[in-house]
Amino acid sequence: MFDIAVLGAGPAGLAACRAAAGKRVVLIDDNPSHGGQIWRGELAISIPDHVTFHPSTRVFDLRPGFTLHTDTQGVISAAKLIVCSGARELFLPFPGWTLPGVFGAGGLQAFVKSGLDVRGKRVAVAGSGPLLLAVGATLRKRGAKVSVIEQAPLGRLLKLLRAYPSKLPQAITMRLGLPMRTGTWPVRFDGKLHLSNGSALEVDYVACGFGLVPNTEAAQLLGCRLDDGFVAVDSKQQTSVAGVYCAGEPTGIGGLEKALAEGEVAGRAACGLATRPVSRRFVRDLIETYRLHPDLAALAKADTVVCRCENVTRGALDPFRSWRDAKLQTRCGMGACQGRICGPITQQLYGWTPESVRPPIVPVPAALFDQ
Ligand SMILES: Cc1cc2nc3c(=O)[nH]c(=O)nc-3n(C[C@H](O)[C@H](O)[C@H](O)COP(=O)(O)OP(=O)(O)OC[C@H]3O[C@@H](n4cnc5c(N)ncnc54)[C@H](O)[C@@H]3O)c2cc1C
Repeated sequence: MFDIAVLGAGPAGLAACRAAAGKRVVLIDDNPSHGGQIWRGELAISIPDHVTFHPSTRVFDLRPGFTLHTDTQGVISAAKLIVCSGARELFLPFPGWTLPGVFGAGGLQAFVKSGLDVRGKRVAVAGSGPLLLAVGATLRKRGAKVSVIEQAPLGRLLKLLRAYPSKLPQAITMRLGLPMRTGTWPVRFDGKLHLSNGSALEVDYVACGFGLVPNTEAAQLLGCRLDDGFVAVDSKQQTSVAGVYCAGEPTGIGGLEKALAEGEVAGRAACGLATRPVSRRFVRDLIETYRLHPDLAALAKADTVVCRCENVTRGALDPFRSWRDAKLQTRCGMGACQGRICGPITQQLYGWTPESVRPPIVPVPAALFDQ
């Protein structure tokens, strides 16, 4: 039995572990190394001595008490739980988005960080959000010829930068040498990437992403309340369930600094130490800046695939009124990803939301359910 279990070894989870010095802490992450999406094991941050780390381990069920059901370590118990499960990318379907050469923006970045050679390749990094510039900068550093296509209009981007001047140097560094179109988005890929302004780009790869979706499933399984799609927390990162804290992207998409600050607060609060609340202003301003243009919901045509696992097209989904109906009648969301990709897409296209979250929250062999 551990004092504290931390789910997710990204910046938030690592900060929570550091802050909980002196406690018996277990840290679990499904990646082979710690660091989360941004660092991916590249940063030399070590795991503190008081922490037992289980990498390459998926938590597929959580129950009150708290027991975490994992695919490599069986059941792990802890008195308190800090959920730092991060976020995943939001994709929006457009004709050609399933063709070879089209990747998720973070997905292509992850391939490149694991050795994919993009030297001399022409890459369009398209969609929305600050991640596009980060991905563009990484790909350019690795020798790719990158164009960034951001759907948000320039005026909103400049307003955000003016409100946060301390972020300006970072934005300039990432932007250096990256041709960038704003207020523009991809409408079709057929070997060329066709854009909403009527132009087309010859590319080798498209890296697409329209923002991030918080991974709230772990907290939801325990009954934690959501607020506008994010895990609701108080000024100590305490959720609506006693003993469960949450930090980082599940409480609001806000980037590295917020994840680190919230992780520290959650770790300290779980130890009963004094904390200072983390501001949520940047989260709200990011939402406003990168608000998606309504036309993006109309890019998918009747024959465009929406659920890739079960090959369900937009035309097959159009007659239905809810996620549940569509799921029962078309198998949308019932494939390997369990709706993690197409669920948020149908929310954007139709406003559907799943009625409940059930285990397993990540794909695992059925035999593990005997635990
Ligand atoms: C694909 C992607 C790429 C990104 N790349 C960049 C970048 O290059 N630069 C940048 O500034 N920001 C990037 N971001 C944003 C960045 O992730 C955030 O700004 C911030 O660092 C998030 O920290 P976090 O600790 O909240 O979450 P994360 O860093 O996402 O960490 C959460 C961790 O929890 C693990 N996890 C979740 N659920 C489970 C489970 N059930 N079982 C086991 N482990 C689980 C995840 O695998 C992950 O390692 C990226 C985001 C995504 C989604």
